[in-house]
Amino acid sequence: MADSTQEQGGASPAAKPLNFIQEIVEADIQAGKNAGAVQTRFPPEPNGYLHIGHAKSICLNFGIARDYHGSCNLRFDDTNPVKEDVEYVDSIREDIRWLGFDWGGREFYASDYFHQLAVYAVQLITAGHAFVCDLTAEEIRQSRGTLTEPGTESPYRDRPVDENLTLFSQMRAGEFPDGARTLRAKIDMASPNINLRDPVMYRILRAEHHRTGNTWCIYPTYDWAHGQSDSIERITHSVCTLEFEDHRPLYDWYIRELGIHHPQQIEFARLNLTYTVMSKRKLLQLVEEKVVNGWDDPRMPTICGLRRRGFTPESIRLFAERIGVSKRETMIDVSTLEDCVREDLNKRARRVLAVLRPLKVVIDNYPEEKVEDLDAVNNPEDPSAGSRTVPFSRELYIEQDDFREIAPPKYFRLTPGAEVRLRYAYIIKCVSVVKDSSSGEVAEVHCTYDPETRSGMANSGRKVKGTIHWVSARHALDVEVRLYDRLLLAAEAGGDDWKDRLNPDSLSVLNGCKAEPSLAQSTIGDLFQFERLGYFCPDRDGSNGRPVFNRTVTLRDTWAKLQKG
Ligand code: ATP
Ligand code: MG
Repeated sequence: MADSTQEQGGASPAAKPLNFIQEIVEADIQAGKNAGAVQTRFPPEPNGYLHIGHAKSICLNFGIARDYHGSCNLRFDDTNPVKEDVEYVDSIREDIRWLGFDWGGREFYASDYFHQLAVYAVQLITAGHAFVCDLTAEEIRQSRGTLTEPGTESPYRDRPVDENLTLFSQMRAGEFPDGARTLRAKIDMASPNINLRDPVMYRILRAEHHRTGNTWCIYPTYDWAHGQSDSIERITHSVCTLEFEDHRPLYDWYIRELGIHHPQQIEFARLNLTYTVMSKRKLLQLVEEKVVNGWDDPRMPTICGLRRRGFTPESIRLFAERIGVSKRETMIDVSTLEDCVREDLNKRARRVLAVLRPLKVVIDNYPEEKVEDLDAVNNPEDPSAGSRTVPFSRELYIEQDDFREIAPPKYFRLTPGAEVRLRYAYIIKCVSVVKDSSSGEVAEVHCTYDPETRSGMANSGRKVKGTIHWVSARHALDVEVRLYDRLLLAAEAGGDDWKDRLNPDSLSVLNGCKAEPSLAQSTIGDLFQFERLGYFCPDRDGSNGRPVFNRTVTLRDTWAKLQKG
């Protein structure tokens, strides 16, 4: 696939090629940098649930730590009390663990460093590198200049150090109203890099923080907190997405002026996936406007949504591995993710028989009271999964699609006069149909079976072209099935009108589905392949108390087929 190219290193052909980040880490270890230590971190802001893009970053950061005998911290970058919440902290922990990674108690918070950051701020003020500015947020924005024009210096830029120290301690003590003053770094208003134009380090904000409560009425900006937090944790390789490339000179400037440990920032291209949205702002909108049923709606690209949809941690890790890391922004087709889950579920999912849109079949020559328990393999890919029995009787359900009164060319399923094999059972032949007197639709298909053709018997007999699945009517379990389709109709969300591209049919609920009785024992976390239909998993919240199954993914990429015409 052209858009999943990986920037490859020069490792020997036998070994798996290194990605460019692993190359940097190996070179640093060989050069004895940081005494050979490797310390990474995953730094989410607790203002939303994690999504598949975060999973890429998690696999990368925890993967580097694992491969190079280092460790990876979980650090919550909680500098914005207004948008953050413990609900998000808890979900982030749960999702990382579920993905299979462990931070071994190394859980930190930027808010743990609020005191140290204030000490650093005083250090910069004392050295003449920071000043208290009385401009409003709007005035600061206006004086920043543009990409082509330099900014203008604040009239408060040359305040004496003592005055700055006094004002900063008054800011901390709550002597000024919200937004009245800021602390700014004194760097260069003419810098071509706008991030270096005297950026704000602290703002006055009376907001309760989910960890520090009302202790603080000034809060550090993300840009002031992030690099120093990395430094305090002695991060060696600070891996982040490309949009922070332009912030690196600022982070390096703070670290240099403070004279503290210097983590090496390395940027990579974020994951973009087709037919979905990944920005937390947009995901929050979907939840708040009830376009979806919460953060874990199986249509969401969130980790909890994918989990509920039936994705496994293995499939997501395989995906992260497969797309690799690069410096170039690309769009990954969602089919790449779906292929990974198919590959994993093919190995592990137990095969079962279920019918989504039932059509009654009556086998006229099968005794009325007779029931046979037929052997069915649980997983042809995994002999250790064993087998089970499924009950067979005179009345069955088959899929409406598997019968045509007038068959199109090359239709190898059931049609009047033709034969088809019932999976794990007999060859049957359609002899007549019964129609609904009012609608004229086929209500029942009558067949005869050939007792000599039972599957697995020595002379199970003739070959027929089609094999279809079925469920014994008398034994069938009534289930609800939810089919999911893409969240967006367009590959890319586009601009502000992205909600116009939402797929109105992203969820279809099928109520009258029939499943083999063994599914009555299924519990959340089980993985199934409904033969010929796709991969499914049990879900909670069934209406009418019926068991519910989510379709994780179809057996094949049906969209690829559509696009070929
Ligand atoms: P925000 O818009 O709130 O900053 P964010 O998606 O960047 O959203 P963070 O909580 O800051 O959220 O992300 C935590 C980490 O995950 C960061 O290091 C970030 O670079 C990484 N990350 C976020 N989105 C992606 C993505 N699509 N692909 C790869 N990494 C990502
Ligand atoms: Mg971010």
